[in-house]
Amino acid sequence: MLRSFMVRTVGLVLHGLLLINCTRIATARERVPWSYHGDTGPALWGQLCPAYALSACGLEQSPIDIPSDAPLNHTNLSFAYVPAPLAIINSGCTIQVNYAPGSTITLDGTSYTLVQFHFHHRSEHTVDGQHSALELHLVHKSATGALAVVGVLLEEGAEHAAYAPIFQHIPSQPGAAISAPAINIDAAALLPASRAYWHYNGSLTTPPCTEGVSWVVMREPVQISASQIAAFTAAYQNNERPVQAMNHRRFITTPSMLIATMQSIKAKRLCEP
Ligand SMILES: [Zn+2]
Repeated sequence: MLRSFMVRTVGLVLHGLLLINCTRIATARERVPWSYHGDTGPALWGQLCPAYALSACGLEQSPIDIPSDAPLNHTNLSFAYVPAPLAIINSGCTIQVNYAPGSTITLDGTSYTLVQFHFHHRSEHTVDGQHSALELHLVHKSATGALAVVGVLLEEGAEHAAYAPIFQHIPSQPGAAISAPAINIDAAALLPASRAYWHYNGSLTTPPCTEGVSWVVMREPVQISASQIAAFTAAYQNNERPVQAMNHRRFITTPSMLIATMQSIKAKRLCEP
């Protein structure tokens, strides 16, 4: 028997969750429905509850528009990803692949473990105001709980074999999950060939839009096919937060700049009394 056929549906884990409402926040205090449009859309996230206040008044929010001539970084980031069995969920907001422990990045001297990756349509980050078709977010967490997210811009082009098993196993219903232990995903193969990246301090792009997230956006887009894009948009369209103001931030090219920027967060955040 081909083990690759041993795909099993783990089951519905969210109950009564509408597609338009996203309530995947951890604490009861923060479980306020939000969405990407209308009365619970991005422009109003900051008013939905106190826990989401940073969405409206934070000064280091994500995503941002990146000028194509913004300072690039080529060093201070290394990837040590290893393949992992496919575990994919339809979260109600996106398609997410939970990644088995053991894959890390080292960013500015700190090690972060890859926890999960997911997708947005269209891209959340723009370059010179232009969206890509999709954006991949690889979410990492350090030993102290700090977050680093690597964004990869995905544009229409040739079929990409490394993405195929993901887009072929999208659970159709919000809350559904698929575990396919016989299928390995290689996160390293999802990255562009060039390691040049833009680096800045930002936030989660979904409520509560917590700041202090180290953002890496790879400069070189990755091509996937029109049918691969369509496989995602059949599940989700426009699950993208609009770009946020850059404010006082600068693109980080050295670790010392990172420290200076983190200090400026505390000094300039308007939300705190
Ligand atoms: Zn994301």
